Amino acid sequence: MPNLPGNDQPPRPKHESRPPAFRIGDHLALDFLNTVAAPRGTTIEWLGSGADLLTWMRVGGLIGAADATETARWPTSSIDEVAREAIQFREWLRKVVTRLKIEGIASLKRSELSRINGLMAVDAGFSQISKSSADAGNCVIEHRRHWSEPRQLLVPVAVEVADLICNADWELIRKCENPPCTIWFNDRTKGHRRRWCTQAICGNRAKVAAFRERQRQSE
Ligand SMILES: [Zn+2]
Repeated sequence: MPNLPGNDQPPRPKHESRPPAFRIGDHLALDFLNTVAAPRGTTIEWLGSGADLLTWMRVGGLIGAADATETARWPTSSIDEVAREAIQFREWLRKVVTRLKIEGIASLKRSELSRINGLMAVDAGFSQISKSSADAGNCVIEHRRHWSEPRQLLVPVAVEVADLICNADWELIRKCENPPCTIWFNDRTKGHRRRWCTQAICGNRAKVAAFRERQRQSE
């Protein structure tokens, strides 16, 4: 099931009729792929504007509260442009992930690495030590960014993509078995037998289809 919003999530606009974005990929790069889906037949886009992108990143923990405040000063039009680039990157990534699943990491092209590296290259990160908010007797090191241009918003996304490519067990990276469903996930279940995006959506649909098929055959 999609995770329900927690306390740390930004409030949803009153006119919002979409369900929250899927958080069922068990890897943020896959959740990024899943920001467009048609769980009930109608396509839902969760990155349709800059505000959408910021909300998705904030909810997923790709940017923190301080980052959200800093990036909020950018003009809407420039963040909207980044959201359009995010969608292009996502659909390009979908093809790459589909191929990597079939042909393996060895099939990764130099041009594909360059595209991901190009996004990560605009990073301007620094580390910061501060007292832990949970325990004043402890200190924590945080990774922060100098936010100088809106395209830097794609850096944490690209880092997640790089992590997926380098560190994931690709045996466990799968697309939902329901053919029209586009949801990808990292199967972290104990027995590694996860087949569906969610039992409630595609699992049940498959169960009903199998039942009807059995009935048809016994007629
Ligand atoms: Zn599915």
